[in-house]
Amino acid sequence: MANQKKTPIAIIGGGISGLTLAALLERAGLDYLVIDSQELGGMIRGQNEHGISLDYGLKSVPIGSALNKNPLVVLKERLGLRLQFDSWTEPPQTLAKNEFVPFVGFGENKLRILITEYNYYLTPERIIVSQGWQKLVDQLLQIIPAEKIMTKSHVTGVGVSDDAITSLTLNGSTQLNVGRVVCTLSPSVLSEIFPKGVISVKLLQRISKTQTFTAINLDLATTQKISEAKNFFILNDNVDQEFYVLGQFPSNIDTARNLSSVQISSWLTLVDQESLQDDENGSKAIRTMKKLIKRMFPELLENVKWERLLVVPTSIGHFEHLQLEKNGTLPGLVNFWVAGAQVGGVHRNILNAIQSSTFAADQIIRQVDPQRILRSSVEVPAQTLSP
Ligand SMILES: Cc1cc2nc3c(=O)[nH]c(=O)nc-3n(C[C@H](O)[C@H](O)[C@H](O)COP(=O)(O)OP(=O)(O)OC[C@H]3O[C@@H](n4cnc5c(N)ncnc54)[C@H](O)[C@@H]3O)c2cc1C
Repeated sequence: MANQKKTPIAIIGGGISGLTLAALLERAGLDYLVIDSQELGGMIRGQNEHGISLDYGLKSVPIGSALNKNPLVVLKERLGLRLQFDSWTEPPQTLAKNEFVPFVGFGENKLRILITEYNYYLTPERIIVSQGWQKLVDQLLQIIPAEKIMTKSHVTGVGVSDDAITSLTLNGSTQLNVGRVVCTLSPSVLSEIFPKGVISVKLLQRISKTQTFTAINLDLATTQKISEAKNFFILNDNVDQEFYVLGQFPSNIDTARNLSSVQISSWLTLVDQESLQDDENGSKAIRTMKKLIKRMFPELLENVKWERLLVVPTSIGHFEHLQLEKNGTLPGLVNFWVAGAQVGGVHRNILNAIQSSTFAADQIIRQVDPQRILRSSVEVPAQTLSP
């Protein structure tokens, strides 16, 4: 049934991108609605396992510098969040002839996209949100009123008139009239939700070049302390030269997970989405991960008390730059902003998510009411930290 009321600003997606946007719009006194098909927080929510709140995979970001302030720190200051960070500086290590040595890089490798992604994790100076990223989700949700959030609503289509979006279709049937829309989803979704002919052929070509990867994340809990190290470890398969596993002991970094009962290590690999169409390839990737972990820390797998496996499709992608308008809207559509982890960089990460959403929020605030610039507003630097 058609809903006659118009939602002034619809935010598609309630991950870190959507929630950042919503909190900034809330502080500016604007009306909006966050729409999410599943759980709020998206890929930065925490999960409870065996009484411990574990992050949704390995999570840390480059620390930033005085000149290029970390967008996460900017967000904390701007919204007055009560967040604390843990930081450390430890160059990554790898195994060579049964010895740990400093990791010098990936060398010549065909999988350039993956290497860019992995490099993001390997800058030695890093920070995390103490006590997990769920804390950030929780604090953003304290700013956003519950009535401005709509869950279990999957955006399946958009209505377009002339050069503007007029409505969103939710769960295939409900129609929501909208004034402005911000999409924080992967650009690959755009070709699915738009009616034919609305997006230019050139743009569709760019979108079709998107290459997405599935993240396989394995957390292992051992009763024995296996390592005191804080750095990332990089494991490489001798057989499949392009199969890398990145690992770390969050217990050694994160005060909240420094438990007396278990030590937790987290291991991550990225696998081409297409190759995972075959189930056997997924199982093989997990077996190879375990084999490599065993080579690096033989005692680790022998002492596993419990493990958690997360398989997250399209978590990482390589996106051809969408070439948005100067104000962040999609060319040809004056009221449709694209924000999210993939905007402003080729790969999806938390810093891109926060930075692009902050930018979109500011553009909208300026457009709605130029007087309404936040008093606490701090300009976000144009460039995200590059790895
Ligand atoms: C295992 C793993 C480890 C990672 N480690 C790091 C790290 O160490 N550092 C780092 O910076 N980044 C890391 N990342 C990436 C980072 O988590 C993401 O880039 C970031 O959280 C994405 O935020 P987002 O809000 O843009 O997207 P998402 O978190 O994906 O949020 C999108 C939201 O939209 C909803 N949605 C999807 N489709 C629809 C639809 N059609 N209609 C309505 N709602 C919809 C989803 O339910 C979701 O809640 C990691 C990711 C994974 C999977």
